[in-house]
Amino acid sequence: MKHDLHSLPLSNSFAALGETFFSPVSPTPFEQTARLLHFNADAADLLDLDHQVQHAPEFAEVFTGKRRLTGDAPLAMLYAGHQFGHFVPQLGDGRAVMLGETTNQHGDKWEIQLKGSGQTPYSRAGDGRAVLRSTIREYLCSEAMHGLGIPTTRALCITGSDDEVYRERIETGAMLTRLAPSHVRFGSFEVFYYREQHEPICTLADYVIEHHYPELVGREDQYLALLQTVITRTARLLAQWQAVGFAHGVMNTDNMSILGLTLDYGPYGFMEAYEPGYICNHSDHEGRYAFKNQPQIGLFNVSCLAQALLPLIEVEAAKAALEDYQPAYIEHFHQLMASKLGFEQADADNESLCKSLLEQMKQSRTDYTTVFRQLAYINDEGNDCHAELRDLFIDREKFTQWLSAYRAQLQQQGKAESLRREAMLACNPKYVLRNYMAQVAIEKAERDQDYSEIDALMTLLKTPFDEHPAHAHYAEPPPDWAGDIEVSCSS
Ligand code: AMP
Ligand code: MG
Repeated sequence: MKHDLHSLPLSNSFAALGETFFSPVSPTPFEQTARLLHFNADAADLLDLDHQVQHAPEFAEVFTGKRRLTGDAPLAMLYAGHQFGHFVPQLGDGRAVMLGETTNQHGDKWEIQLKGSGQTPYSRAGDGRAVLRSTIREYLCSEAMHGLGIPTTRALCITGSDDEVYRERIETGAMLTRLAPSHVRFGSFEVFYYREQHEPICTLADYVIEHHYPELVGREDQYLALLQTVITRTARLLAQWQAVGFAHGVMNTDNMSILGLTLDYGPYGFMEAYEPGYICNHSDHEGRYAFKNQPQIGLFNVSCLAQALLPLIEVEAAKAALEDYQPAYIEHFHQLMASKLGFEQADADNESLCKSLLEQMKQSRTDYTTVFRQLAYINDEGNDCHAELRDLFIDREKFTQWLSAYRAQLQQQGKAESLRREAMLACNPKYVLRNYMAQVAIEKAERDQDYSEIDALMTLLKTPFDEHPAHAHYAEPPPDWAGDIEVSCSS
């Protein structure tokens, strides 16, 4: 059964935890008329929402907080967090309000959150608003990550108005309707650990287990099992980010999901010219969150979570759980890279092949996505040089040698070439959300109120492993002007 906005069953189990964990706060609607700027039908399906709802005049009002939904209980969540390595004792949803949750016909629970919905008790000096630019970036990227098979929050729609928002310049305000089974972060636990309030840690852990890890309910070691599961999920998430070349940009513990989802898209970036030291966030002067540091930061972050759970777990057990992070990350990363190269099993040989390929890519600053996609088309037999691919490398001879060694290993594997190619095309995307692609969509939206580019990109990024001949130019490395795009925390 499909719902309209009146029949959507909404409740808020998080609200039942009590105000230790949040502040009740209503969204502040825009002053000017609210408009729906873009609607994501796939995300509507998650809520069993009829696609026709987008045409209802009240839709934009609901998703800008002007009109309430029956059963909602809007709240801003409290959390703390390690930001750039330093503990900040109180953060919280400074510009987001969770309206409530709904459970779909498959029994999946989705929280509905408005981001950019005005000030909350956690806004500090901020205005509680989001600008159109950053909203489009989160909207596109969360769907792109989903298309790539990477766990992420989702996005139902972008709403906006003519309200102005002041950043480095005057910008257009917008709101994102974000969906996630839970928005609980590592920092949601840390806030109580540092206040030495141990009971809420237990309450929150029980809530997370009951609602999101029901398989752990009733286990004697359930809190340890929760930590272990989050460690494994985080390690696997990081392996997926690294394998696809995604840099998050602000891996603070308040942006780390207790469900292992990619959460809070700010100054993220997909690697183009391969450079392990790639820093996507222009405010990250020391490169703490450089691409190559992400897996290690993941470990730092789960260590912060482990510490916050110490009132519930023996310290030795927590330490032992943390020891599993690195092996879990390495195993998953190697498996993903082996698959990207067309091997079924990771082994020392294909690992060293991969390493040497990446070194050459670094030297030549080749486009990360392009190289792996092109490799799918290599023939197992023969020694044709694949000029197009080879010419991406400065040391062509070295690459040609690498190719021979690669072919030899592929032949050893003995898998039919067509099957190997098919498998590689299914795990090496043709399209990722390059910064300039989002920029084109943003400029059209800001300048002309033209959202057609968002449409085009959504189609492309939802199925990034498919060919999209009409958009083939987006599989090319970026044009020259794209080098000047800078993204920072200001959003
Ligand atoms: P972020 O870097 O986006 O993860 O945000 C870090 C913290 O700052 C979170 O607690 C946000 O809710 C808060 N924040 C970010 N931007 C704003 C804003 N414009 N107004 C109020 N709070 C904000
Ligand atoms: Mg955040």
